[in-house]
Amino acid sequence: MNFEVFVLGTSGMMPLPNRFLTSAMVRRDGELFLFDCGEGTQVSLKMLNLKWKKINSIFISHIHADHVTGLPGILMLSSQVDRDEPLTIYGPSKLKEYVDANRRILDMYINYEIIVKVAEPGVIMETDDFTVRAIKLSHTKPCVGYVMQEKDRPGEFHPDKARELGIPMGPMWGKLQKGGEVTLEDGRVITSSMVMGEHRSGRKFSYVTDSLYLPTIASEVSDSDLFLCEGMFGADMADTAFEKKHMTAAQAAQIAKDANVKQLGLFHYSPRYGDWELKYLLKDAKHIFENTILAKDGMSFDIPLKD
Ligand SMILES: [Zn+2]
Ligand SMILES: [Zn+2]
Repeated sequence: MNFEVFVLGTSGMMPLPNRFLTSAMVRRDGELFLFDCGEGTQVSLKMLNLKWKKINSIFISHIHADHVTGLPGILMLSSQVDRDEPLTIYGPSKLKEYVDANRRILDMYINYEIIVKVAEPGVIMETDDFTVRAIKLSHTKPCVGYVMQEKDRPGEFHPDKARELGIPMGPMWGKLQKGGEVTLEDGRVITSSMVMGEHRSGRKFSYVTDSLYLPTIASEVSDSDLFLCEGMFGADMADTAFEKKHMTAAQAAQIAKDANVKQLGLFHYSPRYGDWELKYLLKDAKHIFENTILAKDGMSFDIPLKD
């Protein structure tokens, strides 16, 4: 099953000709999940040339223009197809007011139900096989990060072991594969662990932008396969970052290191840096956490299933 992350935009504050505003999209098992929605997000989405019909849910970090002004467009675009399921948008408390005002003032034609939910830190969405958690950040406005994490999958089933133990093929195998236990005719009890390998851990994607450096972020994003984190400024601008409640690339790397993530993708770059200057941010980060890359618009990450 696929788990892909598409970077729709990497610019903070304002879009640049070759840098859309901060946004990312997860495609998992054919469903789309959008994280933030700055001005022009629908354009960057179209530029990916993906075949898609509907977005399952949208997660907004905070109500600053660079993260939400693309929302009316995406909501209207989503009315171009029929959909029966509601669209849920998660974010800080003012989000509902923002969505409602846009719908009212723009007389938006929407052919589906929109549900806006407040994203308090903790699990905000749960399905049979994954959860999305909101995590506490500290910015000039209420702001949250998001962690999308698959639940562990059962280990591999070993049919040879099942045969050796004399378990008849059929419903008993199915029960063991689902983690249950069975009693054989001779009274022996067979537990799932006797015929299954170790649990296989799920995949984890973390999205953190617009925050002061908080050491607590590391425990929330620990062991992420991909950690997208703002690296708005170079280390020489640490004071400015602190004043504006943003992070430097080095601080993002410190979190990545403490959290033992597999890969750090920097984004939400200050428009003060031209593309050729971003390498300095990368250098700052790599000094602390080697497996860092500069996320670029249109980039995608494929997170493979774990054995
Ligand atoms: Zn921002
Ligand atoms: Zn902001």
